[in-house]
Amino acid sequence: MPCSGNPAKFRKILIANRGEIACRVIRTARRLGIATVAVFSEADARALHVREADEAHPIGPAPAAQSYLRGDVILEVARRTGAQALHPGYGFLSENADFAEACAAAGIAFVGPTPAAIRAMGSKAESKRLMVAAGVPTVPGYHGEAQEGSLLAAEAARIGFPVLIKASAGGGGKGMRPVFSPETFAEELEGARREAKSAFGDDRVLLEKYLQRPRHVEVQVFGDSRGHVVHLHTRDCSIQRRHQKVLEEAPAPDLPDALRDRLHESAIAAARAVGYVNAGTVEFIVEDGEAWFLEMNTRLQVEHPVTEAITGLDLVEWQLRIAAGEAIPAHWPPPQQGHAVEVRLYAEDPAQDFRPATGALRRLVLPETGRVDAGVAEGDAVTAFYDPMIAKLIGQGPDREAALAALEGMLRRSAVSGLATNLPFLRRLAAHPALRRAELDTGFIARHAGALLGPPEPAPPSALARAAAPPPPGPSAWERRDSWRLHGEAERVALLDDGGVARRITLRASPRGMALDGTTLPPGLVGTEAVTEEGNLWLLGALDPYAPARDDAAQESRLSAPIPGRVVRLLAAAGDRVRKGQLLAVLEAMKTEIKIRAPRDGVIDHVGCTEGESVEEGTEIAALKP
Ligand code: ADP
Ligand code: ADP
Ligand code: MG
Repeated sequence: MPCSGNPAKFRKILIANRGEIACRVIRTARRLGIATVAVFSEADARALHVREADEAHPIGPAPAAQSYLRGDVILEVARRTGAQALHPGYGFLSENADFAEACAAAGIAFVGPTPAAIRAMGSKAESKRLMVAAGVPTVPGYHGEAQEGSLLAAEAARIGFPVLIKASAGGGGKGMRPVFSPETFAEELEGARREAKSAFGDDRVLLEKYLQRPRHVEVQVFGDSRGHVVHLHTRDCSIQRRHQKVLEEAPAPDLPDALRDRLHESAIAAARAVGYVNAGTVEFIVEDGEAWFLEMNTRLQVEHPVTEAITGLDLVEWQLRIAAGEAIPAHWPPPQQGHAVEVRLYAEDPAQDFRPATGALRRLVLPETGRVDAGVAEGDAVTAFYDPMIAKLIGQGPDREAALAALEGMLRRSAVSGLATNLPFLRRLAAHPALRRAELDTGFIARHAGALLGPPEPAPPSALARAAAPPPPGPSAWERRDSWRLHGEAERVALLDDGGVARRITLRASPRGMALDGTTLPPGLVGTEAVTEEGNLWLLGALDPYAPARDDAAQESRLSAPIPGRVVRLLAAAGDRVRKGQLLAVLEAMKTEIKIRAPRDGVIDHVGCTEGESVEEGTEIAALKP
């Protein structure tokens, strides 16, 4: 990235965000000699962004509504600390027009577009009406104000099934539901409205033709206050789960020249239609050589690093320059060079429909080569209050194959222990032949679920032997039988946690060295070793041999909240006879709905919560009769 002095008149900026994006903005500000002010909730008092900023100020309790979404409190910190500009990051207040307006009124430069542009693009329905007027193609659908159920059902029939219901105020894949037949439309509409209401305080929806095998292709744009708008090439973000991105790359591979030119032109037209200033992303859905406008995100995007990799630009630096009134350089767009692929490492369990996970990061090993944007460090916790992203890993190279190979290597050198993550999934994804062949569409993960999901590969015996070999961290951590002799051989037994699976390792001195075997035991982690074998990193924890075994029978009968959340639907009552897999409750937590299903056939013994209730992690939702 080019190094230069302070581009802007800003000497101090406030970052109204947390996690990796706050750390990302701090990094550029520091390089430019700009002082940084962080804000933090009670849950984040010792968070990485707080540690990295020049100064940090508390803004309230853990829930975002009482801290990171408190524009008034944050602006007060900005005034008090003398910050001249405010970077909103993504999420939180980044697309809040009223907040952008309040910043301007307080004489603090909002690093983003004008309130009017945010407002115009803030509603998916309104922005689509705008795009139709600007001549930008949109997916056939219904974007009207009228919201009666019967009218929506009639519109769905007109569009033709399958249709997609979307929250008008939506984002992050929330409130989005495909409907495949008229019979289930009313039920899905109700669900989408409920999700939209609770996530965005607005239950309006729009309808779209549901495309069967589309690609998500987007264009990075930049506008300046003199009315110039340029594109900074394309990204492909088709690899998604729950309609949320998990792997992104730049440029979008295999786009015919004419289609790519059309995408660039449409993106610029979309941005011009709202007088766009600063960084933004225009998202399209592409199928059979056609491209339709999806939405415009009026902020820096999570996946901006892949664009930085192929343009050599620091987009945060340019956001600050533009916010300070600089013009876009005449030679933009810079040519795209090479290829970059990013993956999002999340605390989530791919085996449980990618359900978010929480807990402490006992060990976090991230690669030392390649770009890593992390928001947490080893020892930090992932809580249910915020996005469960741990880090972004960006592989780059002269071409796509090289970028993917670099990424694969980075994933092999990463390891996390203490909570479920999508790391094993990402490793398989990056190595998948269909991904290598760029067979990209939004159904990729579902189509290749067999190869991508499933328990992590066990560590190779040689790695287990090495982990078991060093002296134990504590006397209770290992079953020591160092001087034990069995048929004349020295034997040592170690219990190891291998990616969540407990393995009992028996090491025997044999004429050719140490030999071992392994069996499965209940977990109870007490220490962790990082072992590298053939370029792969394994975290192998010593297990407490005296930890109580899990009571699987009790586990099977008691259903508890996996993370804190709100019970939005309760479908079970005491005495109900239920079938295995039957939906018993819907919990809303961490930007997603979590379905609680019967683990087996049985009869409901009792219910532990009421509909609408907020529950803590571990709260009993329902129990089956033994
Ligand atoms: P969000 O605000 O949640 O990002 P988007 O409108 O950008 O919502 O859509 C998110 C994702 O949902 C897209 O990337 C795509 O995978 C899928 N999607 C959106 N619209 C359609 C559609 N009409 N047909 C099929 N998939 C769609
Ligand atoms: P993108 O296309 O950039 O992923 P989304 O519309 O899916 O955009 O969401 C924007 C990003 O903002 C998400 O990926 C998420 O990381 C972040 N985000 C959204 N809501 C929140 C929130 N409440 N707290 C923290 N981060 C959030
Ligand atoms: Mg989107």
